[in-house]
Amino acid sequence: ASRTSSYKVVLLGEGRVGKTSLVLRFCRDTFVDGQPPTIQASCLERALRLGDKTVNLVIWDTAGQERFHALGPIYYRDADAALLVYDITDTDSFKRIQVWVRELRKMVGDSIQLSIAGNKSDLERQRVVSRQEAAEYADSVGAHYAETSAKQNRGLDELFSSMGKRLLASREEKLGS
Ligand code: GDP
Repeated sequence: ASRTSSYKVVLLGEGRVGKTSLVLRFCRDTFVDGQPPTIQASCLERALRLGDKTVNLVIWDTAGQERFHALGPIYYRDADAALLVYDITDTDSFKRIQVWVRELRKMVGDSIQLSIAGNKSDLERQRVVSRQEAAEYADSVGAHYAETSAKQNRGLDELFSSMGKRLLASREEKLGS
């Protein structure tokens, strides 16, 4: 029989890197160009079929609160995974996720699964963070790394199915099955 497992995924990253756009693309297959999306993707979910299992990813967006440093442990408590997003055309946004990673490790330890997304990969000509630098950093903190474009719908399936597979694997390990 097939089972469905549900996981809480928190989104972290500087404002404007495309967090809401990624969630809207993944969960609703829409993209809002130019302006801030009118739909606040504060919590959206999508079920992913992986082999004979179904993984339900419940994604929590910060809805801009990160700008006010208002995110407390209440946000990432009980989170199974964190998706850290930066913009490949913005060095500061890349440095910022390194701060989040340290904070997560301090607050929730090793139990949380990390993924890093270099978003806006369609803006290749404006790139300032190299793929190699980001991949090496992700490796050093045990995170999965992917480059994405919410705009062109690139890299998202790979990112989320890899997250789902890793979440399933770690739960099965815990259950000893
Ligand atoms: P958030 O503040 O991190 O949630 O970022 P938003 O999702 O609101 O996106 C900020 C801006 O970047 C918006 O104008 C989006 O249309 C734009 N954006 C988001 N993702 C992409 C992308 O993959 N490529 C490009 N070119 N623009 C994007």
